[in-house]
Amino acid sequence: TVGAITLDLQGSMAAATSTSGLFMKKAGRIGDSPLSGSGFYVDSEVGGAAATGLGEDIMKGCLSYEIVRLMADGKTPQEACDQAVYPFIEKLKKRYGKAGEFSLVAMNHKGEWGVATNVEFTFSVGNEQKASRILMANPGP
Ligand code: ASP
Repeated sequence: TVGAITLDLQGSMAAATSTSGLFMKKAGRIGDSPLSGSGFYVDSEVGGAAATGLGEDIMKGCLSYEIVRLMADGKTPQEACDQAVYPFIEKLKKRYGKAGEFSLVAMNHKGEWGVATNVEFTFSVGNEQKASRILMANPGP
């Protein structure tokens, strides 16, 4: 999945995902990517988030919505990613004995960003002046 969150000069935000789903998926499977709140979520007055990885687990936590909700409560994007994702991974492990691999990116309405992942993951951050490509590997809390 490719996920994106944007902020324009007027303060409007958007989030988008594009995916092929999972390898060898069952016919008719709908993952998290097209589901608002799971694969993506955005509120221009707060911020947005987008997800990639095992959709069945991402959907169980409505993780994109959860990150935006935490930002609305005053958390930075990084705090919101950390607080939504890592405890949720522990919850999945406790309940199901395992957690899938997934990654979330977030940006608030000020253009600050955050990310959380339990796998190797590449993402980009940019504005009209410059863009950076960053690789994260299992950073954990
Ligand atoms: N999240 C996608 C899905 O579960 C898969 C992916 O990110 O590669 O359909």
